[in-house]
Amino acid sequence: RPVPVDELITSLCATVPDYPKPGITFKDLTPVFADGTAFRAVVDALVEPFKGQFDAVAGVEARGFLLAAAAAYATGTGVVTVRKAGKLPREVYSEDYALEYGNATLELHTTDLARGSRVLILDDVLATGGTLGAAARLFERCGVHVSGVGVVMELGELRGRSALAGHRVRSLLRL
Ligand code: AMP
Repeated sequence: RPVPVDELITSLCATVPDYPKPGITFKDLTPVFADGTAFRAVVDALVEPFKGQFDAVAGVEARGFLLAAAAAYATGTGVVTVRKAGKLPREVYSEDYALEYGNATLELHTTDLARGSRVLILDDVLATGGTLGAAARLFERCGVHVSGVGVVMELGELRGRSALAGHRVRSLLRL
């Protein structure tokens, strides 16, 4: 029988205490991405609830890029990058947000997606929701409908879903 995707994630995810700062328990999903069976299962499970409901997939720098490119290819849709400040060469919208460890800014080209188009936003981990909340606001400022938000892992006690109120959120594993 195929191993359920949440079991693949649980068995392959590496837990790193006190990284990148004391008190943070870092969930490292790189071994999940490095395993061919797990990576395909994760990408398929992330797009499945939203099939036919998006025109492009957005990835949040940097681990979200891996998921978004694979999901876009698998569904014949486009791929868009939500980047850290200063990386995109043309006119951008910027959104500041608070991280579990620090502050940051995300940017999106104002014209990457047409007004009225629909996007699925992907990232590896939902912690406080600051990152994905900022990403969703960037698309809304572009007039793009956020069809859903997908993450491999959700750290439930950080209440990231409340930062994403009004959005459909799919997480493959809740810790
Ligand atoms: P947040 O904005 O708090 O939801 O944080 C989500 C972003 O930070 C994601 O892009 C994650 O890659 C990263 N992140 C935050 N906390 C963790 C954690 N405990 N383990 C792994 N990644 C994390």
